[in-house]
Amino acid sequence: MGEWQTVIGLEVHVEMETESKMFSSCPVVDSVGAEPNSAVDALSLGMPGTLPVINIKAMEYGIMVGLALNCEIPPINQFARKNYFYPDLPKGYQISQYDRPLAVNGYINIELEDGSSKRIRVRRAHMEEDTGKLSHIMGGSLVDYNRAGVPLLEIVSEPDINSAAEAEAYARKLRSILRYLGVNSGDMSKGLLRFEANVSVLHESDTELRERTEIKNLNSIRNMVKAIDYEVKRQIKLYSSGATVKPATLGWDEAAQKITVQRYKERADEYRYFPEPDLPIVEVSRELVADIAAKLPALPDELQQRFVNELGLSNYDSGVLTAERAVAEYFQKIVESGVDPKLTANWLTTDLFRMMNKNEVEREMIDGIPVSAENFASLLTLVQQGTINQSTARKKVLPEMWSSGTEARAIVDEKGLAQISDPTLIEASVDKVLAENDDMLQRYLGGNEKVLNALFGKIMGAMRGKGDPSIVRRALLDKLAEMKLD
Ligand code: ADP
Ligand code: MG
Repeated sequence: MGEWQTVIGLEVHVEMETESKMFSSCPVVDSVGAEPNSAVDALSLGMPGTLPVINIKAMEYGIMVGLALNCEIPPINQFARKNYFYPDLPKGYQISQYDRPLAVNGYINIELEDGSSKRIRVRRAHMEEDTGKLSHIMGGSLVDYNRAGVPLLEIVSEPDINSAAEAEAYARKLRSILRYLGVNSGDMSKGLLRFEANVSVLHESDTELRERTEIKNLNSIRNMVKAIDYEVKRQIKLYSSGATVKPATLGWDEAAQKITVQRYKERADEYRYFPEPDLPIVEVSRELVADIAAKLPALPDELQQRFVNELGLSNYDSGVLTAERAVAEYFQKIVESGVDPKLTANWLTTDLFRMMNKNEVEREMIDGIPVSAENFASLLTLVQQGTINQSTARKKVLPEMWSSGTEARAIVDEKGLAQISDPTLIEASVDKVLAENDDMLQRYLGGNEKVLNALFGKIMGAMRGKGDPSIVRRALLDKLAEMKLD
């Protein structure tokens, strides 16, 4: 792409998973599983005469997120009416926030592929209510108001993101933080978390940002990346052919794997925002903010640093283990049961992750895998104590644990996999293999050192893989040294 740079700002909608809606006691239900329109009340339907009441829990969740994103929490919050008509918004306006949002001036640190990190500024985060959901089917449209009024936090970044990979890192980090806070499960397929990407390109000779387009309907991070890549290429191609990029709202057509134009924006959206007359101005006391700040759980960056400092893990391993809260907890359970942290980190990030990948289990679903943390800890304890060697653990015990859910010790006992470290037994195997492979032995004694590994392999094979590898290797070397002297 040479002289073109990508410029992206992300707008993220996060449902706050509270018991009740933003402005009434109507329950919040699973937006996919629940019967349509089973969780609606007069307020969700925008009936005349209803009055909103602020959900304090949702505000506290919002402040938690704001603090976790290093934002300032202004002392005065105000709700505002954003006026527009759409069938999923029966009141004809959305209660949102405009010039006095819940949180401002924060940032998220993301890690780049080269290992360096970058700070993406968060401009603001404001509270609003979600809209209903439309389904266009059978030549008509259906509307479900279960989601209408669900507390929604909108988080807006500065245009600091300079590639699809950075947008992905930002999205993953933000989702991770939300999961650590326990305010949102991060389920994009259910629309609980929704990303919109504002995209433009910048020529090296430009002195200001160019016109941007906005991509909506991104139901996974993978699709967001594909859509951004596609859109950047489209814009560069337009400019290169002498055309311009028109401001537009775009969508990602997953089936066709391409961008579709939903509408061109003739002029700026005019929502006629004005202060919400039915709600008071909200004063956010400094005590409340301090209280929420004190109760914030350890967040991924902090935990990563802690694993490095306290457990001696590498920065990289530590980053991988803290990227998802569920993985960090799984790891911590194992270490707390007395297994060496580095051994645990190695096994988790290689063998267990490989197994999860093969079975298409996402990292955050580690809680549900057939190998519980307790069981994995007992496998690693057997390795740590030398009861079984690493290769037996990897090739024979772990796969069996995964397929049957059986406890590690039981598999080792039942299959007789315990490691042999008895020197007499090992020496007997060494002698036997050397006697049966005199040609190899002579080649080794004649100076061909490469034969050593083959001999070692044969001895391990003769012991059905159960020999303690370090003792076997030593016994073999001793024997060969003796023979060389003779
Ligand atoms: P508004 O919705 O009030 O027009 P802005 O245009 O300032 O707000 O920003 C909306 C989002 O678009 C923000 O995430 C911002 O970072 C992003 N953005 C603004 N300008 C550009 C641009 N030229 N290219 C890419 N993203 C942009
Ligand atoms: Mg909005």
